[in-house]
Amino acid sequence: MANCSNCSAPLPPNSIQCAYCGSRNDTDLKGVHYYTTHEIESERICPRCNLRLRTIDLKLDGRFLIERCDECLGLFFDPGELEALLEATVSNVFAVNRNQLDNINTTRPNDYGVSYIKCPICSKIMNRVNFGTKSGVIADRCKDHGIWLDGGELRHLFEWMKAGGKLLHQERQEQLKIAEEKEQERERRKKHAQSSDGDCLDYSGFNMYGSTLRNEDPDLFEMVKNAISFFSK
Ligand SMILES: [Zn+2]
Ligand SMILES: [Zn+2]
Ligand SMILES: [Zn+2]
Repeated sequence: MANCSNCSAPLPPNSIQCAYCGSRNDTDLKGVHYYTTHEIESERICPRCNLRLRTIDLKLDGRFLIERCDECLGLFFDPGELEALLEATVSNVFAVNRNQLDNINTTRPNDYGVSYIKCPICSKIMNRVNFGTKSGVIADRCKDHGIWLDGGELRHLFEWMKAGGKLLHQERQEQLKIAEEKEQERERRKKHAQSSDGDCLDYSGFNMYGSTLRNEDPDLFEMVKNAISFFSK
């Protein structure tokens, strides 16, 4: 949990606004070891404030550019960048802390409530998506251009990662995959059973049935026997 830099009160999840003294806290990039601000403003527009976003370089393995709004401190990530940043910043997590994750997974809306905002690049209305499993963060996503996080949400995702949220998410994905495969197998069997309706013989019994017929068919049996005795004469 992060604390207000002004009065030390704990900050609400997904928020940069202190509930006690009202001051705004720039907490999101505290978890990032190093970054520089580029002086040039990007062409991208903050979906909350309509101002140009500023490009900042997080220097993970070289250049790693994301955009930030100086006003609301929201962040915009190109596709895959947010995952890469979480991965690079929070590592060595080997266990899922379920209690901690339950605390983190507060579904209260962030400071902006439920609202739909525009992609900073194409201006199309973005989708609201649950990030990961039990993260408590609903991110705004343009499937072509990336993900917007409001101020405080990145800090929240760092906490989620530390509590093993990503491990839990992978576990869930794995379970979903297995359940889906089982369902497909069930469907396949059902179809197979339906298509062989009408000849309700079990195929595994077919050979038995054939050999029984031969033994019980005296004519055929006799013919074969006669033929054999004829040739062996
Ligand atoms: Zn405060
Ligand atoms: Zn803004
Ligand atoms: Zn877009």
